[in-house]
Formats: sequence, C-alpha cells, structure tokens
Amino acid sequence: MTATKAALQHREDKAGTSLQPEVNIGTLGHVDNGKSTIVQALTGVWTARHSEELRRGITIRIGYADATFYECQQEKPPSSFSTSKVCPHDQTPTKLLRSVSFVDCPGHHSLMVTMLSGAALMDGALFVISANVKTPQAQDREHLLAAERVGLKNVVIVQNKIDVVDRERALANRKEIEEFTKNTVAESAPIIPVSAQRGLNMDALIEAIQEEMPTPKRDQSVAARLSILRSFDVNKPGTESDDLTGGVVGGSVLQGLFKKGDEIEIKPGIRVESSGKTRYETLVAGITSLQTGGGDARQIHPGGLVAIGTNLDPSVTKSDGLVGNVVGKTGSLPPTLERVPLDVKLFEKAVGTELLVPVQKVKMNEPLVLNAGTAVTSGIVSSAREDIVEVTLKKPICVDPGSKVALSRRIGESWRLIGFGTIR
Ligand code: GDP
Ligand code: MG
Repeated sequence: MTATKAALQHREDKAGTSLQPEVNIGTLGHVDNGKSTIVQALTGVWTARHSEELRRGITIRIGYADATFYECQQEKPPSSFSTSKVCPHDQTPTKLLRSVSFVDCPGHHSLMVTMLSGAALMDGALFVISANVKTPQAQDREHLLAAERVGLKNVVIVQNKIDVVDRERALANRKEIEEFTKNTVAESAPIIPVSAQRGLNMDALIEAIQEEMPTPKRDQSVAARLSILRSFDVNKPGTESDDLTGGVVGGSVLQGLFKKGDEIEIKPGIRVESSGKTRYETLVAGITSLQTGGGDARQIHPGGLVAIGTNLDPSVTKSDGLVGNVVGKTGSLPPTLERVPLDVKLFEKAVGTELLVPVQKVKMNEPLVLNAGTAVTSGIVSSAREDIVEVTLKKPICVDPGSKVALSRRIGESWRLIGFGTIR
C-alpha cells in the first residue's frame, strides 16, 4: 500500500470504483429523510460516521462516497442502469458509464454552510424528501433556499420511504413536492420515488442523475485549485528521517489539473511568529504522488476526494494542520487576505432559526464567521456601507476574486447563516 493510499483509507470505498469520479453530487433535505441511506444504497459507504467528528467540533468533515454507474445493453431504461459490472437482470456484462462522488451532508447547519460555500464544488444535488411526512419540513425549505442562493442548478428530487406509504399518500406527497418547488430552481426537477432502505427504484435514480447531472466540460487551461479538507503525516512514529514520506494533503480539485511532478504552493501556509508579530508563510512543494478514488493517478481533475503526496516536511501536514488552505501551481494563487472586501447579499430570514429571525444589515464592528471553501474563520466588520462590507479576519484566507463565501452571525446560542459575500 502506498503512503497516499493509506492516507485515503478513511474514504472506505467499497464500491470498487475504478476511475476518478467526474462530478460531485451533494445531498440536501430535512434530517432523517434518508440522505445517508440513499448514498449508502448507491455506494455501499455509510458516510454518517463523519457527523460524530462534527459533533465533537474538531473539524468539519464532509463525507465523500464514490459510485460507478454501468449500463446493460440488453435491458431497457431504467432497468438497464446499475452499479454492477454484471447486469442484475440478465447477468450479461455491462458497459461502464462513469464514476460519481456523493458529498453527504448531515442535517446539520454548519456543515450545510460548508457545503454550500463550496458550491463551486457541487455539480448537482439530490433533494431528499420523506414521502410519509408532510412536505416541506423546516430544513427542506432552508436547504432549497440556500441551494438557490448559491446557484446550484442540477437537482433531482428523491421521494424516499415509498415502502411505508400507500399509493394515495405517495400521490398526495408528490403534489406537496410540486407545490413546494413551484417557482424555484427545483421546479422542473424530476421526482423519483424510491425506497433507499429496500433498494427500490435505484435504477431510475441513476438514470435521472445521468440525465440531469452530466459531466461538465472542464476547462483544463484554467489555473488549478485544490481546497484542503484533510492533511496527514503518514509515517509510523519513530521512522528515521531519511526514510520519511513527505506530507500528504487531501481535498477536492475545484478547477484545472494537477500532475505528478508539478511544483505547487499552499496558502495561507504556516503561521510564523517573529518579533511579536504573526504572519503566514506560503509553502512551496513538489508533487511526488497522486491518489484518487480510482487509485494511483498521474493527474487529477475535479471530482471526488483526492490526495497529493508532496516533499513537504510531514510535521507541517500532520493532524489536519493545513485544513482550509488552498493549493495552486507556484505563483498562481492570489494574495493571502487579512481584510476581505465583499459584495454582500443577505437572506431575508436567518437559516436554521426556529422563528425565522429576519436578517438585519451587517453592522460596523460586529463579529462574523466566514466559510470560504474549506476554510472557516472569524472576523470583525471593519467597514460597512450598504452591500459593500470589509471583514478583518483573525486568521487570513486565500481566495480568488469573484468566489463566494458564506456569512454567519451569532443569533442566540449559535452561528446562523445569514447570506453570502462575493470576494471583490
Ligand atoms: P438522513 O438524516 O437524511 O441522512 O437520514 P438517514 O439516512 O440517516 O435515515 C434516517 C432514518 O430513516 C433511518 O432510520 C433509516 O433507516 C430510515 N430510512 C432511510 N431510508 C428509508 C426507506 O426507504 N424506507 C424506510 N422505511 N426507512 C428509511
Ligand atoms: Mg445523514
């Protein structure tokens, strides 16, 4: 097992994926509607264990799970679609279509914020509804609103738990869904009735994903970017320094390509204290190995979770030390910002509040939390006029102009999503 492979073990890919996934598909919908069960039915991976780490509040971990879709040439759609190399109906060999990666989002607001602030990362979303409960539930509404605000377009509505309702209720719920999604981004989204628990109608769900979430044309000439979700020291304790494997970073490619041998920079990098001042120093490294859901790779592109082996001192990458950093080719990253200028768009109501608290304008000197890609950082508003705001951060971030950040404000006991900012 290579070092980077070991580093990716947490991904637990049991579906036998053979390719790097081509798209990331998020899950949205009220808690308990069956998001994780659907992802498990399609991938064999139970992502929900990540939420335990989440509760402990260490780092926000997003659960990735990969699936590979196949098509039988003998069967008619949707029964031609499966996740099997052999057709479940006639046992003939199937044709490989593509691998996709599901990014599961527990019914937990802060994770949703992370996911949506990384919306550039999502090529589409499964909106999971529970047929046995009146639609919409509180988080159904919030998730749809937030998805719309960040410009998520490709949606498939999954009407789950069809096994516990009768035909009448299923049809009534379908009406509720149509009513709920009227005049929203999900208005014309297909509604696929399934039972994730019994694996019913999963072929129709795969068909809908194939139709609604095609692999976008990736521009390979754009500057490569990777957002770091995890970082590791893969060496056993006590390894001689000559035998040390370099630091490994894991995350998602946002755009462009990275190749083995590329020279990369990582920003903001590491914290340095000198003469009473704190600053961040950009790290520069070479790529020594690459790993995707499909195994060792010579190059990596957007889709799923990837790992980059580097020649960095592993003490720099150990214990998720670089989470929230951005990777680009040397000299291509924008400057690290301590003062972030934003064009702000606020919601009418704060996300996640029981009483739907109206959102007041951003005020001078108020504390805010920013989610930018995988970075989470707090700051104080240092300038605010109308929709143009500047936030001075405790810990700087590296973000491209034009990218979106999620803004949260303290309401009652917790930080609530109040809107989005675009980096000016
Ligand atoms: P999530 O919070 O949306 O990720 O929901 P989970 O996947 O954790 O599922 C919540 C509960 O619903 C669990 O007890 C599941 O076993 C159950 N569940 C999920 N899918 C189905 C289904 O298709 N039918 C039935 N009857 N129960 C389901
Ligand atoms: Mg879940």
